[in-house]
Amino acid sequence: MTTTPLTHSPGPAAPDASGRRVPGREELGRLYREHMNRGRATLGEMFGGHVEVSSQGAWVTTAEGERFLNCGGYGVFLMGARHPTVVRHVSEQLHSHPISTRLFLEPQAALAAEALTAVTPAGLSRVHFAGSGAEATETALKLARTKGRRRLVATVNGYHGKTVGALSLTGNDVFRTPFEPLLQDTAHVPFGDARALEDVLATMPGEACVFVEPVQGEAGVVLPPDGYLRAVREACDRHGALLVLDEIQTGLGRLGTWWGADREGVSPDILLVGKGLSGGVVPVSAVVATREVFSVFDRDPYLHTSTFSGAPLAMAAARGALAAIQEDDLVERSRALGEEMLPQLRRIALSHYGDAVREVRGRGLLMGIEFAEPGPAGDLLIELIAHGIIANHSLNSHLVLRLTPPAILERGELDHLYEAFDRACRAQARRYAPASAVPDAPTRSAEPSAGSSRHHA
Ligand code: PLP
Repeated sequence: MTTTPLTHSPGPAAPDASGRRVPGREELGRLYREHMNRGRATLGEMFGGHVEVSSQGAWVTTAEGERFLNCGGYGVFLMGARHPTVVRHVSEQLHSHPISTRLFLEPQAALAAEALTAVTPAGLSRVHFAGSGAEATETALKLARTKGRRRLVATVNGYHGKTVGALSLTGNDVFRTPFEPLLQDTAHVPFGDARALEDVLATMPGEACVFVEPVQGEAGVVLPPDGYLRAVREACDRHGALLVLDEIQTGLGRLGTWWGADREGVSPDILLVGKGLSGGVVPVSAVVATREVFSVFDRDPYLHTSTFSGAPLAMAAARGALAAIQEDDLVERSRALGEEMLPQLRRIALSHYGDAVREVRGRGLLMGIEFAEPGPAGDLLIELIAHGIIANHSLNSHLVLRLTPPAILERGELDHLYEAFDRACRAQARRYAPASAVPDAPTRSAEPSAGSSRHHA
């Protein structure tokens, strides 16, 4: 990834829409460096040095009034930002009872659990709420132990979070090595290879817990062969293993079905949910388990607790998110939009990059552009920002640029995306593609063609 020099002025401190003071770029960089994280400050500069202050629907607005179409957000913004249904639920809760005593019963948590189990695969009836995806993974690890499943099997390049337990499952040495030793008795098998999983499980009958994503997100949108999840379920059943499906990124309609599991009619023992469950408003994740798997927690509710687990404000967000998905038919929209977008993005990327693009793939609104070498994915990410589009890299693959657009995009926004994507690819592709694959690129531009299509509020 090359760095982009900052061409903009430092920008003075300015008020945001609510009249609160927003530090200028330079001051903000200093605050990050002195009080948060130096590397994070540098990354912010590399991505253009923008200061985000507000968001609505598919758009993010900066302190300087520039607007960006948000097709990133690491999969959180399925319903865009500040969806009115989510905001209504959260506002009502904020003004009545945001945090509970944890001694009395509280309606929002129970109603959120009921609403979630109404849409999860058959057999899953018990919910434990948490704040992050990694916490949901930790909860599943502990549930597995209560059932005697202490030997863990996950997939190469899979992603399940970065707390110590979750990191033991995440299949990327860059993140793991500095923190070793992690949990013992953890094996990683190739994703998509049910035979390899079966071979490992055969060595640990009745002792294993398998963690798998229906589509690997952070690995770079890796789709398994058809029938894989069913074969995984069958292998788990044959060898007495618990199956945890991590749908933190893929769930709630992201793939064009409520759950990746639905496509193959699979029901896990434990389902992990996060990201979109927040409605893009209040962080919340969930672990949904069968009654059997949950039985030890049922008996001792203090065995696994956290002060903010099931906080009413987060529960209102979850209820709002589930309501918004249903009211706006976002699962179907995700399927239909993905079906339209993927061929368009593929056509544009291939027309500019030619063989430098290895594959453009996806399901629903989880899409990835895989390049043949590291470099272009990061460069295109930066170029897209310069053209007003936010996308994402992939934490476990340098080769793949990832797009996770919201399911609320309208025609004009789609056309804007294609047009900006086309111009960003054209500006970058000559670095990587043979000249024949770039028929109409006017001039080579190594630097982002700054501001050419950014919207001003
Ligand atoms: N599991 C999957 C499949 C994810 O994609 C992620 C985050 O990207 C996580 C777990 C971890 O979630 P969090 O970052 O909220 O801890």
